[in-house]
Order: sequence, then structure tokens, then C-alpha cells
Amino acid sequence: MPGGINEEIIAALTKTSTNLNSDPIDMALHCLRLGIITGIYGLELTCIMQDILLGTPKIAETYANFGVIDRDYINLATIGGHQQVVSNRIMELAGSKEWIMKAQEAGAKGFKIYGVTCVGQDYEMRCACDKNSAFGGYVGNNFTSEYVLGTGAIDLVFSEFNCTLPGIEPICQEYLVKQICLDDAGKKVGADLYQFKPEKADEYASIVLEEAIKSYKNRREKVKIDIPAEKTPALTGFCEDSIKAALGGSWRPLIDLIVKGDIKGVAGVVGCSNMAAKGHGVYGVELTKELIKRDILVLGCGCVGGDLENVGLYGLESIELAGPMLKEVCRKLNIPPVLNVGPCLSIGRIHIIAEEIAEELNVDIPKIPIVASAPQWLEEQALADGTFGVVLGLDLLLGTPPFVTGSKLIAELLTAKLKDMTGARFMIEADPILGADAMENTIMERRKVLGI
Ligand code: SF4
Repeated sequence: MPGGINEEIIAALTKTSTNLNSDPIDMALHCLRLGIITGIYGLELTCIMQDILLGTPKIAETYANFGVIDRDYINLATIGGHQQVVSNRIMELAGSKEWIMKAQEAGAKGFKIYGVTCVGQDYEMRCACDKNSAFGGYVGNNFTSEYVLGTGAIDLVFSEFNCTLPGIEPICQEYLVKQICLDDAGKKVGADLYQFKPEKADEYASIVLEEAIKSYKNRREKVKIDIPAEKTPALTGFCEDSIKAALGGSWRPLIDLIVKGDIKGVAGVVGCSNMAAKGHGVYGVELTKELIKRDILVLGCGCVGGDLENVGLYGLESIELAGPMLKEVCRKLNIPPVLNVGPCLSIGRIHIIAEEIAEELNVDIPKIPIVASAPQWLEEQALADGTFGVVLGLDLLLGTPPFVTGSKLIAELLTAKLKDMTGARFMIEADPILGADAMENTIMERRKVLGI
């Protein structure tokens, strides 16, 4: 087991110095420790703490995609973020009578805040059920950021601690979009910085909304607005608590469906999107369609989840794409075969679900028919998240290889020998259909071990 976060990270970086560690196995094992601290502190505990502070997600109907943007409002887009105490306050104030009146005095109907990348998915999970919220909807993942700003309808963009696509700066300049960063970890050129301090949430939220009003007044006459009309229906708010509650308070009904074979197994399709694995969202979407066709229930989250959402896989219409058994289950429960678990932070929720199901079955995680894929990983963070999954015992499919497969020793360790240590391994497959084969094989092997 690893030590504290800072100690492990500093030790790992020190080992990579020119004259220090030369043992690839030792360094690979250290990466597993980094995966564990990422998973426990960065994912699971962060989800739990934010649920305590901001509320547990609730299952709700919503719309996503560019068509949710409404030009009649003062529009804010939030790009990137996982520490939402401050950004949540912005959302609360934006929906308050006092601030709606200020927006109306400026000539708008009120404020709308649109989600791009992860904080938007977290907002969606918690705000879609509140029809009075200032949340305008989730528009898309990190790769849609530039296009969202390019609609001309966004007056201010704010971001905090996570992926904020490099390259949005000149677009903000071109479209006169005010930029505000709420953490220097993602500081952008040209953005005002208000360094994250939870105790300053009220003050920062007021500044952000004041700046949005100023920007609205300054730019609306000068910028052409062109918003694509597409609006995609979706369900949101699926987390460990809301799914369990919908199942009647226990995982038993889901386990029974798996035992009966109505659901062959569960697959997490998680993490980033990238341009390398067949193009933006292509691998993740094709893989997911293939999995549900094979009666495998998918839990989606992260930027790849944005792709799944924008093509309609989080909506009830996707039931028609599922295999015959899963289709029947989804029709009965009125849920899509791809459940929207939210941002990449929610990978921690999928881990919690796997842990709780294993506990209910009284077996170890490597034995349960749950498998994962970070099909279009991009960020370093995604590899750390995925590593935690493998440490827990979930086989993890990658659509593109990590940058270590030049070493035969490491490639063999990650794709085969790791199984002896954690019960799971990395699987690398450039073709999504073959990727689905690999994930299904894992599920079928595990079903066999369980005798179901
Ligand atoms: S899924 Fe990947 S790219 Fe998207 S916010 Fe998370 S780490 Fe960043």
C-alpha cells in the first residue's frame, strides 16, 4: 500500500532522475501505488466529499448538445473542474432573484451556465433535476470547447482545477469572451485569476457574474452568433446511491439479472476522448454500441461520456441498439443501456459500485463480471485512474497503447503478468470491435469462474 500523496509523487519523480532508478519493474510497481492514491483520494473520496457538500446526484431527464445554448441569456461556459465549491456558488447566485434582476437590467432574460468537460457533467448530475437552476445544459467534452466559444453566444468562460483545453485563448480573444480561472493549476493566458479559496466562494461568484454582465454589454452588438440547433435527450444522475435506490436499496436485483444472463456483465467506458483512436469520440462510441449489442450494460463517464451523450446513447432511444435481453431489461426499467455516470471523476463511483457488488457476492473484484475501458485516453490523469481500476481487479481496455510498450518487459508485465498480482491487466486493441471481443471475453471468463 502506498504512503501519502505528496510523498509518493515526489518519490516517483525523483526515481525518474537521470542517475537514479534503473529498475523498470520497481518503477512500474511505483506506478501502481500512484494509481491507488489517485483512486482513493482523487476519485472515490472526492466524489464522496462533494456529494456531502453539494448533494447526491439524482436521476433526471435532460438535454445536451449545442442546441441547449440560448442567446437570450447572459451565457457562461464552464470548462474543466473537479473542486466545485466555488463554481457551485456561481451556479447558486446565477439562479437567485437578485442576480436574475441584475441580468434583466442589462437586457437579458437571466443567466445560463453551460457545461463543457467535467464540471459540466457534474453540474448535469446535480442540477438537471432542478428546473429553477441556472444550469443551461451540458454541451460537450473538452474537444468541443473551441466550437462552443465559436458560437459567439458565450459571454464569459470560467475554469478551475482540471482540463481546460489549451488553445481556447485566441478564440476568447476573437469572440471577446471574458476568461476567468479559479485555480492557477489551469491558468490560461489572458485570464483573470482568483485562486481557489472555498471561504471566498461568495466574493468570487459575485465577481464572475459582474464580469459576465460587463462582457455581455460589451460584446453582443459586436459578435455574430451562430448556434447549431441539435439538442439530444439524455438521462443523467446515475451514481452508486441513485442506482441502488432505483433498484430498491440493494444491488441484488442487478446481480440477479446478471446471474440470469439478462445482463451479461457491466462495462465502464470512461475517461477522455482523443483524436488518435479513429477520431474524436469514434472509438468510444463504436465500442459502446458493440457492447450493448452484446447485452453488456455500459456505465459511461468522462469526456468519452460526452461523446456518448451527444450521439444519443444516454437517451432512451438507444434501447433499440441493445441486444435482445438487455433491451427487455431497459424497457422494463425505463433506462437506457448506457448509464450516464457523469464526469471522469465518477470513475471513482464505478469503482465503488464494483466494490459494493463484490462485497454483496462475497467474492474479490477480479471474479465479478465487470470490466472497464478508457478507450480514448488522453490525459496523464486518465492513465492513473485506469491504473487504479487494474489494481482493483478490473481488466482495462485501451484503444491506443501507452508510451511504454517499446519495452518488451513492461508490455508483458502490463498486458499479462499483472494479472498474477492484481487479478487484472491492460488490454490494448486498436479496433473497437476487437476491443469489445476482449471485454466480452473477460466477462465470460468471470461468469465461468462464478459458475453462472
Ligand atoms: S476525461 Fe480526460 S480530458 Fe476529459 S476532463 Fe477528464 S482527464 Fe480531462
